[in-house]
Amino acid sequence: RNGLFLGYRCESTAAASDTSDPPAEKYEYQAEVSRLMDLIVHSLYSNKEVFLRELISNASDALDKLRFLSVTEPELLKDAPDLDIRVQTDKDNGIITITDTGIGMTRQELIDCLGTIAQSGTAKFLKALKACVSAKFDSKDSGGDSNLIGQFGVGFYSAYLVSDRVVVSTKSPKSDKQYVWEGEANASSYTIREETNPEKLIPRGTRLTLYLKHDDKGFAHPEKVQKLVKNYSQFVSFPIFTWQEKG
Ligand code: ADP
Ligand code: MG
Repeated sequence: RNGLFLGYRCESTAAASDTSDPPAEKYEYQAEVSRLMDLIVHSLYSNKEVFLRELISNASDALDKLRFLSVTEPELLKDAPDLDIRVQTDKDNGIITITDTGIGMTRQELIDCLGTIAQSGTAKFLKALKACVSAKFDSKDSGGDSNLIGQFGVGFYSAYLVSDRVVVSTKSPKSDKQYVWEGEANASSYTIREETNPEKLIPRGTRLTLYLKHDDKGFAHPEKVQKLVKNYSQFVSFPIFTWQEKG
């Protein structure tokens, strides 16, 4: 199983020499996204652990969307009948993998959802943060930031609270291809490529791989993940399985 992760490095060097692989395409983030990522990382520094709640809530939303659609289109379920969330930890390598069998994203949805702000939780967060800053100014009340975290989702970019690099591999039932989105902390661009490694294909849904920052590798301990799931995600209506890499 460790090979899965070590394989990552081999793959990126192999991709450069293997001309049959479609190349990764590079995209710039919308300017607001870069600013927002900065803001999230700085304002939530002492509440980093919210990342798992946010990513599990996205997985749960994706499963909800699929469940809703499958009422009228039951064939959507055929590739992966179970609707669940799996959180896998690899503490030796400091990697957390969150997999759902939800609606997934097409290539265009990856660009729209993860490269722009539009309707995302981060947009709501930004609004709330602005309101909070002016409220603080009026009442001289401090500690507003941590209240905010309880009230608003900060969304996908909270992955960068703890990650140097985030890889999103996703397969929508609307597309016959699986795509891989890759972004690094403090970068102004991300890449998208087609998944061509047969070992990494998933029937449907999304797999997020978080390569944790050096100081945050402790989050990849199974007990830590189980505790966070219990504290923050107990009302998620899909099963959440946690397990660890065998050393
Ligand atoms: P929000 O959840 O409030 O929309 P996020 O920043 O958390 O904001 O996520 C942005 C968007 O990215 C989501 O609305 C969704 O379209 C897409 N997305 C994120 N995670 C997933 C996932 N696991 N499966 C499918 N789509 C996802
Ligand atoms: Mg969200």
